[in-house]
Amino acid sequence: RAHLEAIEALNPRLNALITVTAEQALAQARESDARRTRGEARPLDGIPLAIKDLFCTAGVRTTAASRILHNFVPPYESTVTAQLRRDGAVFLGKANLDEFAMGSSNLTSAFGPVENPWSRRNDPETRLVPGGSSGGSAAAVAARMALGATGTDTGGSIRQPAAFCGIVGIKPTYGRCSRYGIVAFASSLDQAGPFARTVEDCAILLRSMSGHDPKDSTSAEVPVPDFAAACRRGVRGLRIGVPKEYRLDGMPAEIEALWRQGLEWLRAEGAEPVEISLPHTQYALPTYYIVAPAEASSNLARYDGVRYGLRVAAPDSDLRDMYERTRAAGFGQEVKRRIMIGTYVLSAGYYEAYYLKAQKVRALIARDFERAWERVDAILTPATPSAAFAMGERTDDPVTMYLNDVFTVTANLAGLPGLAVPAGLDAEGLPLGLQVIGRPFDEETVFAVGAALE
Ligand code: GLN
Repeated sequence: RAHLEAIEALNPRLNALITVTAEQALAQARESDARRTRGEARPLDGIPLAIKDLFCTAGVRTTAASRILHNFVPPYESTVTAQLRRDGAVFLGKANLDEFAMGSSNLTSAFGPVENPWSRRNDPETRLVPGGSSGGSAAAVAARMALGATGTDTGGSIRQPAAFCGIVGIKPTYGRCSRYGIVAFASSLDQAGPFARTVEDCAILLRSMSGHDPKDSTSAEVPVPDFAAACRRGVRGLRIGVPKEYRLDGMPAEIEALWRQGLEWLRAEGAEPVEISLPHTQYALPTYYIVAPAEASSNLARYDGVRYGLRVAAPDSDLRDMYERTRAAGFGQEVKRRIMIGTYVLSAGYYEAYYLKAQKVRALIARDFERAWERVDAILTPATPSAAFAMGERTDDPVTMYLNDVFTVTANLAGLPGLAVPAGLDAEGLPLGLQVIGRPFDEETVFAVGAALE
């Protein structure tokens, strides 16, 4: 009830939730209470969560923040949310996001922007973005409208909003969580993960979200360890990689200082910083912005106005006309841009020059990390190149917006776990985050390092 009251008080301003499921939440909470009374408590009983509106929830509208799905009520549940429910979690509602998870600002939602709770009040000029695409999830947790939230991360969409909102978020190894029932953006990059206010809370949520699922052929058959126990391991003897290519020209001094501070903290706890090289880092952003739109253009072909979602047709429309009207009205600008880029790089004349080339570079980026793991146990980088920016900034030029993802996309391209943890404040008092990247399926080391930084 306290969280529902917080939602009622704050959501009109922050717009973090698209749908609030108050009745359902209270019913779930009562079931949790009853189980506790019977001594049958489950690991997440009574824990109130916000669910990114990209996860299908049976009987509850799931929009992907798009007009094209504004009326879509899935008849089935995503595996991740089914597992959270199995463990007793209470769902408060569906969190706002960039349309189809395409963005770094939450400004592309068809349901309006989300405001970062760190914005200075009463000053509409400097309203800050929460980051994206999981901006509603991050804002809800930071504003204490929820104890935790689910997100998805295709190129930074958990880690960047976590950093902008001063909370913790982890994108686990590709394959750790099932993608079944999550609206697809770029299937070879998409991963689910949790947000919370502490590293240990994230670890507890991730354990519940993880595990092999026969309904997702890319989900991995590996054991799910006790991530929370790993938070207490310490970092003594760990070698922490510091990739020299992440020292960008023109990087703000406060980001450099934060990074150095993080390394000092880890050294003080017994870890050893080691300079490493990830030589193909400079190609990560262009590679990502070819691979992700290519897969998106294919995934989004299903929204045709025939089977579900929005349909726009004139009385004399034939099939093709109906497709065109539906997609023209249903998709926002950024989604259309991605479909056009993706279709272009996949088209017969350009496939080899762009898509195939990007796939090759992706393999080189993954190999850089494989070499690094011979020398280090985890890698520390800044999470973002700046603190949260104002809503009016960086919107004229899509490429400026894409630069937000410079530190995060590599982990998606290589399939590696990445955790963002708040580590300090900038000169204006806004939160800044650090990122810990780990070996495939070694979230335990990532959590141990993250816990040492918080
Ligand atoms: N900002 C990136 C993009 O726009 C990443 C989004 C994501 O991780 N879902 O594609």
